[in-house]
Amino acid sequence: MRLTFYGAVESVTGSCFLLETPKGKLLIDCGMHQGERMCSKVNLEPFGFQPEHIDAVIVTHAHFDHTGRLPDLVKQGYNGKIFMTPPTKGLMELVLEDSVHVMAENAKKCGDPVVYEKQDLHNMLEAVVTVPYHHVTAVFEGVTVEFFDAGHILGSSFVRVVVDDAGESKTLIFSGDIGNDDVPILPDTEVRPAADYVICEATYGAKEHEKAAVREPMLANFVKKVIGRNGTLIIPAFSVERTQELLFALDQLLQRGEIPSIPMYLDSPLAIRATELYRFFSDYLSFDHPAAPGKDGDWFRFPSLTETLTVDASKVINDDNRPKVIIAGNGMMTGGRVLHHMARYISDAKSGLLIIGYQADHTLGRKIQNGATQINIYGEPHQVRAELLTIDAFSAHGDQKKLTTFVRGNGALPKQVFLVHGEGPTKDAFATHLRASLGVEVQIPHVMQTYEL
Ligand SMILES: [Zn+2]
Repeated sequence: MRLTFYGAVESVTGSCFLLETPKGKLLIDCGMHQGERMCSKVNLEPFGFQPEHIDAVIVTHAHFDHTGRLPDLVKQGYNGKIFMTPPTKGLMELVLEDSVHVMAENAKKCGDPVVYEKQDLHNMLEAVVTVPYHHVTAVFEGVTVEFFDAGHILGSSFVRVVVDDAGESKTLIFSGDIGNDDVPILPDTEVRPAADYVICEATYGAKEHEKAAVREPMLANFVKKVIGRNGTLIIPAFSVERTQELLFALDQLLQRGEIPSIPMYLDSPLAIRATELYRFFSDYLSFDHPAAPGKDGDWFRFPSLTETLTVDASKVINDDNRPKVIIAGNGMMTGGRVLHHMARYISDAKSGLLIIGYQADHTLGRKIQNGATQINIYGEPHQVRAELLTIDAFSAHGDQKKLTTFVRGNGALPKQVFLVHGEGPTKDAFATHLRASLGVEVQIPHVMQTYEL
């Protein structure tokens, strides 16, 4: 069999791998490359394989960099099934619907490409087959897949693929994205079962995170600091997972009286809808604390929170001159409502910007993290004067220690490990660490590189 790496190889985004077995072709994830804005031009380039020749697709989780090109895949001729867990389908539908809107907006404002439209998304959703965790499923002759909980976002998985390779059984594990340790609202990442080959993400392969336990105190301190000087705190939030973890943390802090009950806005239709799905699929969650004993009994809602679903409702925020918290998408500041709030508050030294997620290269978020003093928002220059704080403890990704635990798995080391999803120096450092600590063979594939397994 042959494995080719089409994306998430020389960058963090655009996850896409192709496994060719004697009986067919299996695609693992089909994500969008993300750059300065939501869709960079690289997403208009051909896939590098013929979509109509693929026999099955499996999807590890709903994030855009793992699902964003699926509608285009179907548009360009793929006509098989697409397998994923039930929450992944729900979240993916929301994520991709939102992307249709953002692409249309970016096309209008900046001439960016529109890779697919609503009808393409609809056609793709018709092909989805949902499979719960631990149901071994034959995707075509000689290949079974099984989803395990990756603890990264609601419904996220790593996938075991068992291939009958001319009479010899070979097992591969595709990590998708591996979750952080001790996530307060998710189950732990499952122990990796035995495999011949492990394809592992390395986003934070060279880093050790702050422990999850520091997220609430750090958040509380920054909220009090910015509010204390009458500022506005903007939190660009990834709508899926990070927002729900943030709401959960704020709910806990408010219940314990550790932050004042000031106005907070959740200004993201995607995040509001995603939060509904978190409630709907609560069986897939695992909470550190029981639901609030308060009136609502809800993990993600509190009286001072206003959800602004429509554009009209969102305008209320502009008229609110009180100190406040605004949670808005998107997380890397490449589009969405957060940009309007940034345009208003980023030059205000009383205000604050709290980053709680990974900022990919070339994104506005990364530029600010790198210390840019002036940024452009929709073509207009703005001075950066608001105070910046990054809290890594909210990361949805495992750090070096966690990823090493994943690779170590149940103790039986794989023949080879392939590192994907990480910037070059990060993957190099993680590879060195894995070779030294586990004595395992590690490869760092290049784009379009094929391995005979
Ligand atoms: Zn992810």
